[in-house]
Amino acid sequence: MKYLKLFFDRELADYFRLGFHVHYPLNRKASIKDIIESQGVPHTEVGQIVVQGLPQDFSYIPGAGEHVLVRSIQPPFDVSSPDRLRPRSFSEIRFVVDVNAGKLAPLLRMLGYDTFFDHELGDEQIALLAHEQKRIVLSRDRALLKRGRIEFGRLIRSARPGDQLREVVTFFGLKSLNLFSRCLRCNHALRDVDKNQILHRLQPKTRKYYSRFSICPGCERIFWPGSHWEKMKSLMKNAGIVQ
Ligand SMILES: [Zn+2]
Repeated sequence: MKYLKLFFDRELADYFRLGFHVHYPLNRKASIKDIIESQGVPHTEVGQIVVQGLPQDFSYIPGAGEHVLVRSIQPPFDVSSPDRLRPRSFSEIRFVVDVNAGKLAPLLRMLGYDTFFDHELGDEQIALLAHEQKRIVLSRDRALLKRGRIEFGRLIRSARPGDQLREVVTFFGLKSLNLFSRCLRCNHALRDVDKNQILHRLQPKTRKYYSRFSICPGCERIFWPGSHWEKMKSLMKNAGIVQ
């Protein structure tokens, strides 16, 4: 039997519980993407593939006896600069969140990031949407992230939403935070609204103490920097996300 030697860096080997190197039996012609993914590592987690000392892309077909080094992505991961593995870069950071990490959606929207979430979307639809609208897929499902149409994604490691958010912020180096600029429920960008126009919808105390309001053009919910807002901000501070 002919073999290929796969080496994974520490980050990948530890998380995906792989040996420092893997002997892969080469019994059919397969791309390096398929071979890596057969070890449980979605292509979205791979930062570089080096074969016999030369960088290669996902379509490379390795030969018997070759040594393949698979490196993880080093954060902060800049999706706006094209590289050998991902020649189509994304100029804007936008997300689509899988149902298994759904609580990330309102949190990322709170930070101002365009984040699509619909619990009825299947894997195929998520992959298609990610490709067509240039969205980064966030999921806890390895099988979803192996789909070829998905270019950028992240396998979410943590179970708790606050930790998941910190994970995404750190991994993608999210900086240009625009807090409370987006509807948490439906992802629309909020618009400023004149207080007089919505006076009839405000509680007496809100009417008395607040002057700046914004409205969602989708669901018409009204937002203002009230106690809910402050609570969210302190939650972010505690998570080390905003100063
Ligand atoms: Zn809304």
